[in-house]
Amino acid sequence: MELTRRDFIKLSGSGLGAAALVNLGFKLPARAATEPLRIVKAVETTGVCSFCAVGCGTLLASEKEGDHLKIVNSEGNPDNAINFGTLCSKGSAVIQKSYIDGEINPERLTKPLYRAKGASDWTEISWKEAIDKIAKLVKETRDANWIKEDEIIGPDGKPTGKKVPANRTEAIGTLGSAELSNEGAYLYQKFARSLGVVYIEHHARL
Ligand code: SF4
Repeated sequence: MELTRRDFIKLSGSGLGAAALVNLGFKLPARAATEPLRIVKAVETTGVCSFCAVGCGTLLASEKEGDHLKIVNSEGNPDNAINFGTLCSKGSAVIQKSYIDGEINPERLTKPLYRAKGASDWTEISWKEAIDKIAKLVKETRDANWIKEDEIIGPDGKPTGKKVPANRTEAIGTLGSAELSNEGAYLYQKFARSLGVVYIEHHARL
């Protein structure tokens, strides 16, 4: 029988667990080995842990519930070259971003929130409204703070009168996310640079 690396980890994990219990004096009934896996009917999706910049790969098992899929299990992806199936304590609890004890996490945000200038409360707005608002503010800020040229300063610290193209804005900063894959992060910084943004950051550095 040919075993994939994933099958091997699954089998050796259950084997080691059983061996440890026997060593502790537990008598395991033979039927335990025949019980079906909890995720036997689940759909498996790969994901990326969003808690830090390491970007460990996860496997999410989901089952159909009504008209949507509900995540019933999360674990490390043994085929991911970043973590080879391992997760730290934060990554092991990544399912709690969506569900806690099988119920939707009440703290989870599913819609954009907007806090108007001077307001103390956040209000829910639609995605269209949020995206239109962001686009308008980016355009206005960029236009009002565009640096077209830089003047070259001489070795004596004085302006030389010579100018070089700059084409940037220093009035906008962007913040990437550990939720992004390498490819996503590449596109994000390309997009920011195409706008002339030079302050490109990542939340894991804050
Ligand atoms: S599992 Fe831990 S180390 Fe890996 S990305 Fe998540 S928080 Fe970072």
